[in-house]
Amino acid sequence: MQFYRHGLSSADAKAVAEVLDTPFLTSGAVGKKVEAQIAEFFGQPYALLVNSWTNGALAVLLALDIKPGDEVIIPAQTFIATANMVELIGAKPVFADVDPHTLLLTPESAARAVSPRTRACIPVHMYGLMCDMAGLRAALPAHVTLIEDCAHCFEGTRDGEPPGKHAEVAIFSFYATKNVTCGEGGAIILKDEKLFAALQQTRLHGMSAIAADRFKAGQYRHWDMARLGVKANLPDLLAALLPNQIATIRERLPARTALVERYRTELANLPIRLQTLPDTCVSAHHLFPIHVKPAARDAAIAALNAAGIPVTVNYRSVPTLTYYREKYGYTQASFPVSHEWGEGEITLPLWPGMPDEDQTKIIETLRSAVVPLCG
Ligand SMILES: *Cc1c(COP(=O)(O)O)cnc(C)c1O
Repeated sequence: MQFYRHGLSSADAKAVAEVLDTPFLTSGAVGKKVEAQIAEFFGQPYALLVNSWTNGALAVLLALDIKPGDEVIIPAQTFIATANMVELIGAKPVFADVDPHTLLLTPESAARAVSPRTRACIPVHMYGLMCDMAGLRAALPAHVTLIEDCAHCFEGTRDGEPPGKHAEVAIFSFYATKNVTCGEGGAIILKDEKLFAALQQTRLHGMSAIAADRFKAGQYRHWDMARLGVKANLPDLLAALLPNQIATIRERLPARTALVERYRTELANLPIRLQTLPDTCVSAHHLFPIHVKPAARDAAIAALNAAGIPVTVNYRSVPTLTYYREKYGYTQASFPVSHEWGEGEITLPLWPGMPDEDQTKIIETLRSAVVPLCG
């Protein structure tokens, strides 16, 4: 049984083959077209492709001049990358606990974490469910930059609005298992022209012009470096895999939703907790998480694995991982909701095209082998 499988086709392979026929395989005309497609999809003035969410976040933090001593608010329940990039540039990730039902950072929790040093806040749309971005914008001081972690949510909406409406910046991931994928990659959408100019530089070493532009018109042009940057540009070879997926992503959501609805119906009366999905939200259903009592979790994973069912854990609470615990002195009681969820969470297989009989087997194994552990 497979945990995930991408939906790439022979048309996508052909698009890659076309890039192989061009002289430069790195960022160029294909990426620029995909950037225009992404900007249009979200109704944003600017989009930039990057080679991962993680490097994109680093480029954004550098473009915002976030420095040692600055603080960035991060939900305790997320993937480590969200906090790690803040830590890497020497700023301080200030964790905030999440809502016990939605597992999302709330405006109230984020507002409580604000200090005079707060420069930014990175809410995470966990499992595809969007945070209350309008509420977060209203709850945080205007000078605090909102950076949406949209790694789980390309096609989701809240109150009919897609990511990017209320935040200054939104960052997507096209990592191997994400709903839109090119193996490794990501994108940034934003509105501000000055930040866009800074990001074009921080995305590529801090250079003042990208390679394709430097060789344009048969005449060499000098470049300058006015600020520090990273290497975060996406090569055209990978960007070529994106246009078809982006064009069809909304049509492909019903297949995910149907799988999630079957899981939710069949697991409804078992001693298993599910994420609450407010009806003002359309989740992108990136992952399907369940929660069992923490004392039973690892035995439940072993039972699922023994039946040939691959699962993952998304995520053990970030502040209780050794690095953050030792550096900042957090305990399991510091962010109790995130900790408890992270100790009982199991992510089940979910991908469009997943065979019905796989899902039947997962549900039956939960009933026969996992429920008895939860008594
Ligand atoms: C996958 C993921 C990331 C990192 O994305 P990469 O493209 O692999 O760098 C960041 N945040 C969350 C919530 C993720 O799931």
